[in-house]
Amino acid sequence: MTGLSEFLTQHEGFLRSGVFFGLLILFLALERLRPRRRQQVSARHFVSNLAFGVLNAMVLRLALPGGLVLLAIWFQGAYPSLGLMNWLNLPLAAEFVICLILLDLVLYWQHRLFHQIDFLWKFHSAHHGDRNLNVSSGVRFHPGEALISLFLKAGAILALGMPAAAIILFEVLLNAASLFNHANWSLGRLDALFQKFIVTPDMHRLHHSRLESESRKNYGFFLSGWDYIFSSYKNQPDTPHKDIALGLEDMPEDGFVSTLQRPFRKNRREA
Ligand SMILES: [Zn+2]
Ligand SMILES: [Zn+2]
Repeated sequence: MTGLSEFLTQHEGFLRSGVFFGLLILFLALERLRPRRRQQVSARHFVSNLAFGVLNAMVLRLALPGGLVLLAIWFQGAYPSLGLMNWLNLPLAAEFVICLILLDLVLYWQHRLFHQIDFLWKFHSAHHGDRNLNVSSGVRFHPGEALISLFLKAGAILALGMPAAAIILFEVLLNAASLFNHANWSLGRLDALFQKFIVTPDMHRLHHSRLESESRKNYGFFLSGWDYIFSSYKNQPDTPHKDIALGLEDMPEDGFVSTLQRPFRKNRREA
């Protein structure tokens, strides 16, 4: 386990960018080879979605220059007795597993609150604007949401006393999960099987439905179990996946600038 920790911390930059670009290319290929839905995504829209990823990386770097990893290292150096993992004093492998599960739980509730609180929804609605869900939707998040999420994650990481390498692993996993479950590709029968453990493309697509009865379901990011435990799981959409209407009612797929402006406009409640 110490070997894994060293590998993660020594190759952090390569891992983050390598996994992101590797999976982006892989899912672009799978969207062509095994598409789940017939849909057209314009190059302009694809680039606009990726621009959110670039902008968010810059905004988060400005907000927290060393990122969550350096924050955790600094905090644990300054306050070595604080944080759940420091009290439990478990083997590193157990710390990794517990931290990954608990942080995923925090993100489940964060996502749920982004739907339930109007102020937060103004930002999260940018993510739900896509009418043709595809791999690039996995990075389409308003910088306001990315910032709020950064501070929530920072609080959870410090409270957990999470090891630096586990933070890197979690962020890489989260990024990979987002590309995996937004991509328009079919896992066939495996989707239903995987849904018992992790969030799959079919499970997350249902969350992007225009029907509120469906967009208020399947909040999970990585582990699907939270939706079972907290009664927010929906197995199948009312309309088959190939026809399900995605995006927001009465709102066109906005471009980059208008999506950025959306939270600051006089708004009606869409879900
Ligand atoms: Zn959502
Ligand atoms: Zn999504």
